[in-house]
Amino acid sequence: MTLQQARADRIEEELWTLSRFSVEGPGVTRLTYTPEHAAAREVIVAAMQRTGLSVQEDALGNIIGRREGSDPALPAIAFGSHFDSVRNGGMFDGTAGVVCALEAARVLQESGYVNRHPLEVIAIVEEEGTRFSSGMLGGRAIAGLVSDADLDTLVDEDGVTVREAATAFGLEPGELRTAARTRDDLRAFIELHIEQGPILEQEKVEIGVVTGIVGVRAFRITVEGRSDHAGTTPMHLRQDALVPAALMVREINRFVNEIADGTVATVGHLTVTPGGLNQVPGGVEFTLDLRSPHEESIRLLVDRIEAMVAEVAAAAGVEAAVNGFFALSPVGLSPVVVDRVRDAASELGFTHRDITSGAGHDSMFIAQITDVGMVFVPSRAGRSHVPEEWSDFDDLRKGTDVVLHVVTALDR
Ligand SMILES: [Zn+2]
Repeated sequence: MTLQQARADRIEEELWTLSRFSVEGPGVTRLTYTPEHAAAREVIVAAMQRTGLSVQEDALGNIIGRREGSDPALPAIAFGSHFDSVRNGGMFDGTAGVVCALEAARVLQESGYVNRHPLEVIAIVEEEGTRFSSGMLGGRAIAGLVSDADLDTLVDEDGVTVREAATAFGLEPGELRTAARTRDDLRAFIELHIEQGPILEQEKVEIGVVTGIVGVRAFRITVEGRSDHAGTTPMHLRQDALVPAALMVREINRFVNEIADGTVATVGHLTVTPGGLNQVPGGVEFTLDLRSPHEESIRLLVDRIEAMVAEVAAAAGVEAAVNGFFALSPVGLSPVVVDRVRDAASELGFTHRDITSGAGHDSMFIAQITDVGMVFVPSRAGRSHVPEEWSDFDDLRKGTDVVLHVVTALDR
């Protein structure tokens, strides 16, 4: 049987509709368990119902639209993404994957496709961690990685817990166990997402075949010197904390440039105390965000950075410490699904390349329980998490056609 093509005009219309569910201000701000979330939920549920899907919400509010298959013994094949946003983000991050999954379900219905496996469109909550400072909460719940205790320890900036907010939203967060899936009931998950980086656009490639997701390490590096009067303390008697800290930042940058294997490092926040014009800096604290597709590179870099920080501090006569506070290993996606994504792009005549995701996604957790693949579409100028975020609707249509091909290939 031949499938019809996905339609860019329907993808466009639905994305604009969902983009309006945002608090006032530039771009899209749609936080979990808010009125904006509720409005988006309503539209997504209605779209699923129109497509003949039976709709359920799990304990945390992930929306699952399901179409039973001809063989009731088979596990489901699912596709989707998240529909929350960062503050003042764009209208494509996450939501594009949900809208394209809805479009894929429509095409299957209109083409009269008879599926063997149950098919599911999944719209996931709280991926960004904007409200509860805990990224990929919805995806982790699907992977069975959220504990009952998390519901009470994760709070928003007003001190409201996940349990309280989800309950007020009409959910039953205590039923977490029912949100957790296993390989026995979920055969595969395919996520279409915007690239959020510049590679596809720069190389004029239509489809990114995601082979893996980078590992992340986050550190706080502190340098302790001594604060003194900026006018009366001679240079050779100072314990200025900022000068060695600046050297550390430069050295980290140099190390990572030397590796040149896709590893990136960012010092994004730096605090100088006491922070006065006429005071010698007594203390510096800066963050380090380290990401790499290669666990080995991360390990080597961390060793090298720790040694360098100790050396630079000793030479400057100050104290320094490197404290890690977040670690996530790189995730390789399932070759079974990745190969099918690549084949689908080729068969459809789209230019494609393998790519590593530099951002975290729900898929990295769902990959712990089943076969997962991701399809990237180009982002204009690589911009994301900003109001200017943009992907062309026709590129999203191509990505949807790839998802359709992968789903039906896995279903056979
Ligand atoms: Zn996203």
